[in-house]
Amino acid sequence: MYSIDHIYINGQFVTPHGNEIFALVNPSTGQLAGQVRLGDAEDARRAIAAAKAAFPAFSRTSKAERGGMLQRLHDAVLARADDAASALVEEYGGPLNTSISRSRYTANMFLDVKRVMEEHAFVKTVNKSKVKLEPVGVVGIITPWNSSAWFIANKVATAIAAGCTVVVKPSELSARQNQILAEAFHAAALPPGVVNIVNGRGDVVGEEFSTHPDITKISFTGSTPVGKQIARLGVDTMKRVTLELGGKSANVILDDADFAKAIPMAIQACFMNNGQACIAGTRLLVPAHRLEEVKALAKAAAEAVVVGDPHDAAVSLGPIVTQKQYERVQRYIAIGIEEGAQLLTGGLGKPHGLDAGYFVKPTVFAGVTPAMTIAKEEIFGPVLSILTYATEEEAITIANDTPYGLQAYVSSSDLARANRVADRLVAGRVHINGIHDDLIAPFGGFKQSGIGREFGPYGLDAYLEPKAILGERAQYR
Ligand code: NAD
Repeated sequence: MYSIDHIYINGQFVTPHGNEIFALVNPSTGQLAGQVRLGDAEDARRAIAAAKAAFPAFSRTSKAERGGMLQRLHDAVLARADDAASALVEEYGGPLNTSISRSRYTANMFLDVKRVMEEHAFVKTVNKSKVKLEPVGVVGIITPWNSSAWFIANKVATAIAAGCTVVVKPSELSARQNQILAEAFHAAALPPGVVNIVNGRGDVVGEEFSTHPDITKISFTGSTPVGKQIARLGVDTMKRVTLELGGKSANVILDDADFAKAIPMAIQACFMNNGQACIAGTRLLVPAHRLEEVKALAKAAAEAVVVGDPHDAAVSLGPIVTQKQYERVQRYIAIGIEEGAQLLTGGLGKPHGLDAGYFVKPTVFAGVTPAMTIAKEEIFGPVLSILTYATEEEAITIANDTPYGLQAYVSSSDLARANRVADRLVAGRVHINGIHDDLIAPFGGFKQSGIGREFGPYGLDAYLEPKAILGERAQYR
């Protein structure tokens, strides 16, 4: 049993004013694993005050000084990568191999952001005027559980690159990952108050951040309903918002694609992170005349997925994060069956021999129509819906027929055709023939998948406010 009973304010680990104890359950076993003492609104206000006090000096630091801090953050986070990986495995059942690579990836983020900052022009000339990009102010960072350390690292790194100070409210479900990250931040010896971390509930600490007049911007990753609530709460103090929200991403397989590669890739794109990824390709769109072939390939690929104890390196699908999320996924599977989708593999209940944890059978539905609930709503579990189209035009229409627009995937052996379709998909990112990695290109959503972009120069601009100085060399005559 571990116990996390401190929060991080003004460069120190302190006992929170809040005294609620939140139980942490290992999702692979269903057993109590630890507990965290949550902060409250008073703790949020103390953290905001520390970030506000640190802002004037920090906002005037040079690129070289902030570059040094980003380098130290990288080194400190990398030094704890093994601890962070084991916390990912224990805390939300991240499979071992992906947890290790993700933890290293988290450290690398600081170097990516450092490079972007070094190349970014913070002073420009526009027409006859000088334009300075100034740090926006104190930033409130609110993150989900499904890749906690990684989201926090990206947002904190970008805020620091811009010269902003931050208060972070991680998900209460990722307390152990957050604790390791907080210790690494402390080891990086940033000036006190630049980074503050308050564990707490969304409707307490998160709402205090969203309404507090000393927070200028909120950078949020999480569900669309909570993102809307944060935007509503923030409007009275005119907060800038970056909202990274949910998705229902389409994976369009054109009729000339290499199906033997594209369909297993589609299973991977849907089941990534135990099916708990905002960018998961959960709607697989295939040509109607190739459906039987797709069904056979999808069934075989899903049945080859090894589900189980995430400590086992052979496992690629661990459990769902909580009992509540498990039940939500089961509900969607039941709705899929009730509404008449054809269950190809998986279905209700736990996989054989995995009764203790929150494991879900890798599930694939065919015969899904755009009107069905499982084609419309974000499930956040390993559940794939296969839909068919008659023409390329119809594929594009179905792919775009969603309130979301976070990510999309296209497969075709004709690259010109794939690019043509990619141009017409309404999504913040489109992947052609596979799942690609680019942490500098912009990331974010169209429509109700969010507002704004993260990563690279677009991400950095979102923490900066342009100030135009007119008449820089003007003299009265
Ligand atoms: P969530 O929206 O329930 O919670 C996210 C964070 O918001 C948590 O820290 C939570 O405590 C906080 N919160 C809750 N209510 C709040 C309120 N009223 N005011 C302020 N903060 C509040 O999401 P989750 O269940 O933790 O994560 C899953 C969701 O996140 C999915 O919808 C997924 O698609 C989305 N997500 C999006 C991205 C992206 O980059 N677009 C990435 C990962 C996850």
